[in-house]
Amino acid sequence: MRYFTPWIVAAALLIAGCEAGETAGVENPLVSTEGTIDWSIYHTTAEAHQLLEELEARHPELVELEKIGESIYGQDLILAKVTNRETGPHAEKPAIYVDGGLHSRELTGSQVALYWMAYLLNHYGEDPRVTELLDTRTFYIHPKFNPDGSDLVLAENVFLRSTPRPVDTNEDGIPDSDPPEDLTGNGKILQMRVPDPEGRFVRDADDPRIVRERTEEDEGPFYSLMTEGVDRNGDGIINSDGLGGIDMNRNWPRNWERWHLQGGSGDFPLSEPETHAVAHFINAHRNISLILHGHTSGGFIFRLPSAMDPGEFNENDEALVIHLSDYYTEDTGRPIVPSATDPVVRRYGTLIQWAYSDHGIVGYVPEFSPPPEDWVPDYDDKGYVDEADWHRFNDEEFGGRYFYDWEPYDHPQLGEVEIGGWWRLYWGQNPPHDLLERELETQIPWYLYMAEQTPLLEVDDPVVEPVGRGEDQERFVVEVTVRNTGFLPTNVTERGLVGADPEVDDGVAEVTDRPLAPFQVARAPLVVLDVEGGEVVDGHHRRRIEHLAGESPHSAGVSEREQTVRFEVARHAPEASFEVTVYGEKGGTVRVERRSFP
Ligand SMILES: [Zn+2]
Repeated sequence: MRYFTPWIVAAALLIAGCEAGETAGVENPLVSTEGTIDWSIYHTTAEAHQLLEELEARHPELVELEKIGESIYGQDLILAKVTNRETGPHAEKPAIYVDGGLHSRELTGSQVALYWMAYLLNHYGEDPRVTELLDTRTFYIHPKFNPDGSDLVLAENVFLRSTPRPVDTNEDGIPDSDPPEDLTGNGKILQMRVPDPEGRFVRDADDPRIVRERTEEDEGPFYSLMTEGVDRNGDGIINSDGLGGIDMNRNWPRNWERWHLQGGSGDFPLSEPETHAVAHFINAHRNISLILHGHTSGGFIFRLPSAMDPGEFNENDEALVIHLSDYYTEDTGRPIVPSATDPVVRRYGTLIQWAYSDHGIVGYVPEFSPPPEDWVPDYDDKGYVDEADWHRFNDEEFGGRYFYDWEPYDHPQLGEVEIGGWWRLYWGQNPPHDLLERELETQIPWYLYMAEQTPLLEVDDPVVEPVGRGEDQERFVVEVTVRNTGFLPTNVTERGLVGADPEVDDGVAEVTDRPLAPFQVARAPLVVLDVEGGEVVDGHHRRRIEHLAGESPHSAGVSEREQTVRFEVARHAPEASFEVTVYGEKGGTVRVERRSFP
């Protein structure tokens, strides 16, 4: 297969970048001796991994890094498992999965994930709320979902939706044959201002840097605007076949659709190593009940439903989803909007829809980084923020860093044009560097709140009563009471009940009277009484109980917050003993240590 040159250049650059990161090691630490981190930096993958390793080295009892796969360019996909291991292994605690950076230019998502991890570690033992969370919950944090894509953006400012896997968008037989390019060599891909009598734009009379929509009164000259680049593949269109083309948040197995209905979906669900690795991880970690899938820009949160007809979404679950995100709006003033709004025209194959439909998990897609209108002052009290305000803010606060003056350029196809404009990667897409930390801090209260909403099981000391004596054996009743002290029910959503309760119809599978618990979307707690020197005589020693309700008023389909399981045991040996394990999946695993019969 022939690849267009930028692909090879980009790959070489990434490899060079990785080597630099590895050799940097602790010689140039990213965490200071005092534990502080410079949060005005957008970290490359090498830097993010270095940061993870430094945090692991500083907090070995709280952090364990795991390589969950490799990216398309062969970079490690590193996930941090954060919990206090002294109070139990990560897999036995209710968990939240947090990631960022699936979309290449959405760098803030990765920074929020890193910041959240550092926040938890820095506050452990200092802030009782964080201490309690790390003692009782697990955080799976995957900051660089798409390391290759974000590195290309950081190094070359490219336009790339997600994975750099080449796609032949214009059907000329050469994948990625005409991406936007940095023609002026300033390291940025900006805009071209092209003289055009029919153009929709005109220069502002007060500030010629500003290009605004033309009105009836304007006499010209007029311009068209386009992204910096040339027609590389000779199809008569500038930038006709950019880098990549797959959207990894359309690549998930639930309600996946082919390219004709869903652009960028890939050849088949989980076709990409990055999505496959995360699907595998989430599938293998049934303790996950909530997902915060960090994206960037807009300053709002996408909620469920996502890749489905919104009219068919479970009403109880929608009430829960709204309830959990209300706090974000109260705290930040930012809106929550459904990801699916149209019954026909909608997204397919999104991560949060898959996690909900196949695992009963509630997920959100926070779109960090509100537009400049939200953080640029209205200097002249017009009642709104316009581009003149942007310029004043950029000039006064940032020394003009985020705007490039229009410079003449002799374009091979368009003739004399000008190239310049806003460095939009950090002006609208992501916050300007000095405003990044404020955006990261803004997310913490809701992340903390969400972490406290998981189901959380506890088990009482078993009640053991002798119930009689046979010829050569004593009999006991062991009563085990299991309770959900958390907010969410152990099924998390009503969707989670599908598969075991014949009353819950998933609209597809015919419900049978087979024992369905292992196939339930979210499995109910399993109580296991392990007896040595005796045996359970009134049935199996492994008993699946009903799902347990939480404090949530939206615990649809379940009502009891606690259940008691009664086992009858025959003692065969004088030193007989038992232990209890409750496998609560989303509510965690709880145990009663081995003890003798009275
Ligand atoms: Zn996105």
